[in-house]
Amino acid sequence: MPKRLASDVYAIPVDFEGVPLTVYLIGGRGGATLIDAGVNSTPERHLLPALGELGLRATDLDRLVLTHVHHDHHGGSGALLEANPELTIGAPDLEARWAESPRRYILANYAAAFPGEVEASQPVLDRIVGLCGAPVSPSLRLRGGDTVELGDGTTLRALPTPGHSPGHLAYLREGADGPSVLFTGDAIQAVGIAVTGRPDMFLLYHSVATYLDTLDLIEATDADLLATAHNGPLDAEQGRRLIELSREWATDLHARLGALVRARGDVDLNSAIDEIAAAFPNYGRAMGMALTTAAHLDHLVVTGEARVQIRDQTKHWVAL
Ligand SMILES: [Zn+2]
Repeated sequence: MPKRLASDVYAIPVDFEGVPLTVYLIGGRGGATLIDAGVNSTPERHLLPALGELGLRATDLDRLVLTHVHHDHHGGSGALLEANPELTIGAPDLEARWAESPRRYILANYAAAFPGEVEASQPVLDRIVGLCGAPVSPSLRLRGGDTVELGDGTTLRALPTPGHSPGHLAYLREGADGPSVLFTGDAIQAVGIAVTGRPDMFLLYHSVATYLDTLDLIEATDADLLATAHNGPLDAEQGRRLIELSREWATDLHARLGALVRARGDVDLNSAIDEIAAAFPNYGRAMGMALTTAAHLDHLVVTGEARVQIRDQTKHWVAL
């Protein structure tokens, strides 16, 4: 059931496999725009029925704009394009090629998270490829600062919000009456995602410095509503609290891994992940934990607390 957030903005809950997820619809006079598409099955299960409740069909959709090209945000793109061949698909320029090939997406993300030392199991990768749905080639390749005309004097302004993913964009709705709405995708990671039926998903970012900059940038927009993907729509105060919680967790992880490197003298990625997995037992040892742990170890190099050494073809972070 779509929930109205502003005169022309709706939140559509589209949870999958126990993962909470919200897709947003902007349905102004100038046409209908979806922000993100969920996984492969989301259009049939949730989006098209939700559009129906608002008196819209798939062919009434003008455009789909993706915050980033992770499987749970672009996986429904192919099914939406099949239902409406006229649909314009916009995606961050840096990640658009991932939408054209699940293999590129897996290599850029899962292989990057598991650089030979930690293996992602084939069944996990097969499941992710399935959730990616049919490949699409986004015709609208967006960068930070670009605007997307919504047709009735309102626009979406793309803000560069890397960290969770390298090309991640948030979109600020401008020129409309009512509250200012910022669609933040997964830019604010907070404590990861609480999942039902299996271990929670750890927070996921590939660069600590860019992630922290992104939190600052989102806070500085002072938007009235933050439309998040996995925490639903938040008012300004709830948004501020989520951003502060995100900073606290990043600070805690930095301190925790810095202390580990100092105590042991040096660590490799696997032993650091063991430490994080033991400290946070309700989270699964998956891509997020590997990528975020590696990002924090590299950040110790940035802050002058560690240096990198390759021994036996394995990367080690050595205390300074
Ligand atoms: Zn994501």
